[in-house]
Amino acid sequence: MSRSHDLFTAAQRHIPGGVNSPVRAFRGVGGDPVFFERAAGAYAFDADGKRYVDYVGSWGPMILGHAHPEVLAAVRNQLDKGLSFGAPTEQETTMADKVCALVPSMDLVRMVSSGTEATMSALRLARGYTGRDKIVKFEGCYHGHADSLLVKAGSGALTLGEPSSPGVPAALAELTITLRYNDLAQVRETFAAIGSEIACIIVEPVAGNMNCIPPVPGFLEGLREVCDQSGAVLIFDEVMTGFRVALGCAQGHYGITPDLTALGKVIGGGMPVGAFGGKREIMSKISPLGPVYQAGTLSGNPIAMAAGLKTLELISAPGFYDQLTATTTALLAGLQVRADAAGIPFSTNQVGGMFGLFFTSEKVTNYEQATACNQEQFKAFFHGMLERGVYLAPSAFEAGFVSIMHGEAEIQTTLDAAAATFAAMTA
Ligand code: PLP
Repeated sequence: MSRSHDLFTAAQRHIPGGVNSPVRAFRGVGGDPVFFERAAGAYAFDADGKRYVDYVGSWGPMILGHAHPEVLAAVRNQLDKGLSFGAPTEQETTMADKVCALVPSMDLVRMVSSGTEATMSALRLARGYTGRDKIVKFEGCYHGHADSLLVKAGSGALTLGEPSSPGVPAALAELTITLRYNDLAQVRETFAAIGSEIACIIVEPVAGNMNCIPPVPGFLEGLREVCDQSGAVLIFDEVMTGFRVALGCAQGHYGITPDLTALGKVIGGGMPVGAFGGKREIMSKISPLGPVYQAGTLSGNPIAMAAGLKTLELISAPGFYDQLTATTTALLAGLQVRADAAGIPFSTNQVGGMFGLFFTSEKVTNYEQATACNQEQFKAFFHGMLERGVYLAPSAFEAGFVSIMHGEAEIQTTLDAAAATFAAMTA
């Protein structure tokens, strides 16, 4: 038996399900989760010392690869000065200036400690600003686990077959209107009926929690239009897509300007960080400038700022996203060739350094298609790849992530593993 198995058994004594976040438990694919001990570059090493090419990257943050020496040095430098002050620091200003320069829709930005906090706070702000209670989200989009947003959410909730969580009061869930992603006609109908009651639309500009589904042309533009017409706030949840699909985030990539943006993952470089920000007029309603309350003991934590700032500096290097995108494209093209050769129905989606793998012959553009893919084939593929040293997300409803440390050797290792896995699946 592996050490991971023993560790998982021990973990279940005092941790619910043995994990501190549900998808880690491997319920979506079966078997024991792999316990990691360390990671470097494109690789993660488990408790038995086995090496994996890692396409999870801590669920997105590790765009520079694991344990990047310059990020570690920045953290070490801050460590000696203290872990947390609960008072303003210069680094927070540097971070805010940098974020607002990279994401022009943001005039003001507030740092928080997770993506959930960022979306939850953006939602409260949208409600406080508009004086309206209803919100629109999309089926299969995950925006963290705040009550209002845990209605027909994707990702872990979808993996565990429980898209809407018990514990969310019905009175609150009623205020969350869930529409179909990439279905602009339905959005227009809803706004025609009750647009004046809707505080905001919150959307993943590339859906990454029902696998990876890009917006169809016109979808994001249409959301901008209905928000302009109705006075609702357009919130882009870029916790996953921010600095992942492009340096200017998804909004830069698609050329759409949201009113508010939620960020997380990459902006913290692997530390617990989130942020939300946007138009000055709206952000000025946040305390202490305005009446909408929002706070955090560890918000803007100096260690987290050090890791995040160094990450933002390094991803700003010319050509960074060209390389990341080209690597991801090469990976997907290689996987497609090998699936086709094995006669396995397979398709992929990609935006920048973010990708989706689907066991279907169709191009996937919506939730129904994503959930109709062959789950058994995904599970077999996942375990075949894991055995051969490639770590994919343990769920058919998660996007995959490539880091800048993934090079030709790592792609080749992955493609060789895929060829063998596809062959075994058809044997
Ligand atoms: N929003 C999106 C799009 C996410 O993908 C996630 C997490 O995966 C969140 C929000 C929540 O972020 P966190 O897990 O840091 O609370």
